[in-house]
Amino acid sequence: MKVVVCTKQTPSTTAVFSVNNGAVSWEDSGGKPNVVNPWDEYAVEEAIRVKENHGASQAIALTMGTPDSQEALKTCLAMGCDEAILVSDPSFAGSDTLGTARILAAALEKIDGAKVVIFGKQAIDGDTGLTPVQVARKLGWTPVTYVSAIKEIKGHTITLERLLEDGKETVTTDLPVVISVVKEINEPRYPSFMGIRKANRATIPTWSAADLNISGGVGAGASQADWSHVYAIPAREGSVEIIEGDSVEEKVAALVDKLFEEKVI
Ligand SMILES: Cc1cc2nc3c(=O)[nH]c(=O)nc-3n(C[C@H](O)[C@H](O)[C@H](O)COP(=O)(O)OP(=O)(O)OC[C@H]3O[C@@H](n4cnc5c(N)ncnc54)[C@H](O)[C@@H]3O)c2cc1C
Repeated sequence: MKVVVCTKQTPSTTAVFSVNNGAVSWEDSGGKPNVVNPWDEYAVEEAIRVKENHGASQAIALTMGTPDSQEALKTCLAMGCDEAILVSDPSFAGSDTLGTARILAAALEKIDGAKVVIFGKQAIDGDTGLTPVQVARKLGWTPVTYVSAIKEIKGHTITLERLLEDGKETVTTDLPVVISVVKEINEPRYPSFMGIRKANRATIPTWSAADLNISGGVGAGASQADWSHVYAIPAREGSVEIIEGDSVEEKVAALVDKLFEEKVI
């Protein structure tokens, strides 16, 4: 049994978001590089733990993205994944979540013995949270979302705990399974020094469209969800007024008058 963690390279959480004529860009903020989607750090950690604690033979990291997404995969290797695979092709650019799911599902079908696929709950840029369930649908595998613990993997079944708004529930289902995890599941480890060295030496295979048996359209032309009107929310305008006075009492009285005037109180 292999465990695969799907991760997306996203801008740093401190990158500055801007929109020019509908084109979205994330400028580097203070030289911050792109990162493993922060929600996926829990997914990567859990994939490694499935290998350590539940007998998976390999933990594999998988990303669909541009060639520079290799950096995110190297982080996964440095944390402890055994292998990483990049799925990249110019024809994938502009895919909506369904296109993304078709590509990832085809890549997962190509990984012999993959039985548990782990995602983070959402990406910090696209933020839809749709990809895991769409991948499960494409594969015909069971989706389980908001997983806060993997309790047991025994034979052909897996027992999971899901985090609900008011509590938790335990779910047992057959393998193969596609799960998305929440941050309550674990504490992600830091990449080790040995791991970083191993990751820097690793050659990451790249699978293109020609290597995959993708069913259905992908890329901008096939996207049914059109990002037709993307805009930044205008910055809030505000002003500051310093209330002058000879004593605290005078300043407070002036402030209270102002608050009445503005109908705040
Ligand atoms: C240049 C560009 C153009 C785009 N154009 C469109 C468009 O026209 N219409 C539209 O609807 N969307 C468009 N998108 C957004 C794209 O569809 C989403 O980024 C993608 O489908 C993933 O959705 P999400 O970001 O909401 O991830 P979520 O569904 O929120 O992520 C959930 C989980 O899935 C993982 N995941 C997501 N994507 C990948 C991936 N590629 N590889 C591995 N794991 C992944 C995340 O890391 C996370 O663990 C565009 C994106 C780019 C970069």
